[in-house]
Amino acid sequence: MEVYLDNNATTRTAPEVVEAMAPFFGAEYGNPSSMHNFGGRVKKHIDEAREKAAALINADPAEIVFTSCGTESDNMAIRGALEAEPDKRHIITSKVEHPAVLSAARYMKRFGYRVTELSVDGQGLLDLNELRDSISDDTALVSLMWANNETGVLFPIKEAAEIAQSKGVPFHTDAVQAVGKIPIDVKKTPVNMLSISGHKLHAPKGIGVFYARRGTAVMPFMHGGHQENGRRAGTENVPYIVGLGRAAEIAAANIDSEFEHTKNLRDRLESALLEKCPDTRLNGHPELRLPNTSNVSFEYIEGEAILLMLDNVGIAASSGSACTSGSLEPSHVMRAMGVPFTAAHGSIRFSLSRYNTQEEIEYVIEKMPPIAERLRAMSPFSPKKGG
Ligand code: PLP
Repeated sequence: MEVYLDNNATTRTAPEVVEAMAPFFGAEYGNPSSMHNFGGRVKKHIDEAREKAAALINADPAEIVFTSCGTESDNMAIRGALEAEPDKRHIITSKVEHPAVLSAARYMKRFGYRVTELSVDGQGLLDLNELRDSISDDTALVSLMWANNETGVLFPIKEAAEIAQSKGVPFHTDAVQAVGKIPIDVKKTPVNMLSISGHKLHAPKGIGVFYARRGTAVMPFMHGGHQENGRRAGTENVPYIVGLGRAAEIAAANIDSEFEHTKNLRDRLESALLEKCPDTRLNGHPELRLPNTSNVSFEYIEGEAILLMLDNVGIAASSGSACTSGSLEPSHVMRAMGVPFTAAHGSIRFSLSRYNTQEEIEYVIEKMPPIAERLRAMSPFSPKKGG
């Protein structure tokens, strides 16, 4: 059996999405900017995809810009907002952002920017007072993620955006992991900018969305032609844009049932693992998180070893530590949450999707406890080793 529980890394492109894209690799090859019928027909499909992407977050279609990925959308928000306010030199973000935000913000230091990285508590939650106190007259941008990719923990984006708004500071959210998994309504949440990535919601890799609220000052990141209303130059990636539109349409139509489906399976998996495997702990807040994500630490064992053994029995997950220069470094998210070293090393992220089944989850529940037991018996860190 093969069980894919790494959906926060990437998702399967939905068959309906592949089907919707197919004509644009074939007969419908026109350039949407062309005046003739070949182009006009294609442009109509791009307009429809824009409407569908907008509907998923309750935005206006004119506020949607198609990009190449979530990383581009994040960079566009940061660079675009800073360039629009050149006299302000301060950025606020958090310690647990994806590198697409964190590295982009830190990169700006070489141009004289100050970067405040807000901390999180042991459950991965943000302190809104720290945000309030960090904003100054010099702050050009606040960028905080909606949902954390490693733990699924949700930040209070509505409240955070209201704080920024009350101080007149533009607010960006990296909603790459949140969109399609939880309801998002930009009419009710005063974010100025929001990033989406197609491949996290069953569209292909290589397509993203940048949302910019009407009236938000954002300088273009890519210069060239007049595509995307002058906000992102480059001939449109037509098949992928159409695919993203179809994926957004499916996500919007099924958001409640998918929430229930993934949460039920996730909860079953998580409670069984915590019960059956000794010395385990949940990383992140138990309730304030995405329905599909579970980050569990198997103390005293190395996550990479668990992943390899899971892979041997056909189970795909990911770990919260990465092998850098031969040593296993706990991820920046685990470190920011203060997860003890012995637990951060053995943290495993299971992330589910609409395609997972009860049978698959029962298979993982059967396979995981003996793997943990075997590795723990071999672990030099285990206090129980040798009796
Ligand atoms: N932001 C978050 C929270 C992510 O999880 C990811 C992907 O892992 C990205 C941004 C980057 O998205 P993309 O892979 O489309 O560049």
